[in-house]
Amino acid sequence: MSRFNLTRNTALTAIILKRVTDVNYFQFILNSKFHVGNIALNNSFDPYEESKYVPGSRAVSQAELFPLQSFISEHSKLFVLTGAGISTESGIPDYRSEGVGLYATSKTRPVQYADFLKKETIRQRYWARNFIGWPRFSSFQPNRSHYILSDWERLGKVHWLVTQNVDALHYKAGSQNVTELHGSAHRVICLSCNFKFTRHAMQDMIIDINPDWSSEAVSIGPDGDVALNSANISDFKVPTCPKCCGILKPEITFFGDNVPKNTVHFVLEKMFESDAVLVIGSSLEVYSGYRFMHRARECGMKIAIINIGPTRADKLADIRISARCGDILQRLNIS
Ligand SMILES: [Zn+2]
Repeated sequence: MSRFNLTRNTALTAIILKRVTDVNYFQFILNSKFHVGNIALNNSFDPYEESKYVPGSRAVSQAELFPLQSFISEHSKLFVLTGAGISTESGIPDYRSEGVGLYATSKTRPVQYADFLKKETIRQRYWARNFIGWPRFSSFQPNRSHYILSDWERLGKVHWLVTQNVDALHYKAGSQNVTELHGSAHRVICLSCNFKFTRHAMQDMIIDINPDWSSEAVSIGPDGDVALNSANISDFKVPTCPKCCGILKPEITFFGDNVPKNTVHFVLEKMFESDAVLVIGSSLEVYSGYRFMHRARECGMKIAIINIGPTRADKLADIRISARCGDILQRLNIS
């Protein structure tokens, strides 16, 4: 941490930083839904093509849909768990889908938590890539599935929604009873003093100390990470905490880290208050989401899954539909 950075950050604090709390986070995301970043970077993303991010799937007949319609009609307080598959129709790739997921189309892999903590060069590379990806990532918009779930919450059908996504698209669509199981790319936290502020403010801090640094992005991941086609990453300066000069990290649960215990307990409480579980767009490969299916089954709760391709919890589910989330949700009647 240089004295220069501290001085600059302290000056910035007064102007742009505001502690993010749970209370003002929802409002902030709603207000910033059309924020597309405040700098013109030479981003070279292809225009959105749905087929690039949504895996192929077959059409589902009315007869096949009938058991799911009955499940929706018979339950009045749904616990909904969503994953990357719900956001692919917004243009955000998932990790694991065959042919179109990040693992299939790119050599890019998500940063490991231990590496981020240990190595300054890893943090420098992470933030340089995240900086270039942010204008694009923060501009993604909800799709029909997010809006349908927001309507279902308003009409009392959804009791609680848990998402594994860090894109804030459920909040942008208006859902309020939401737990972001893996955190949010829209918040930054200091690892020393836990000060939290918005990712938009972080963008301004980065620009302030890197006025001439730029690069081009060639792809984007579910967490806003991008692959850069060229960059002098060693010249990129990483801001530190404006309060204590500590290390800053997006408030995301990185691979290799654990979801906080109190979050797990809270989500379990919400699940047990509900009368059935609906999974939308997740392969449930990651234990943090899969564990809820296990507990639901143990307690005799009914489980329905809508996801393209197999999931780790297929054997636990009562109903399983392999299709696009949006295609299925828009055909369900909740009246
Ligand atoms: Zn701090």
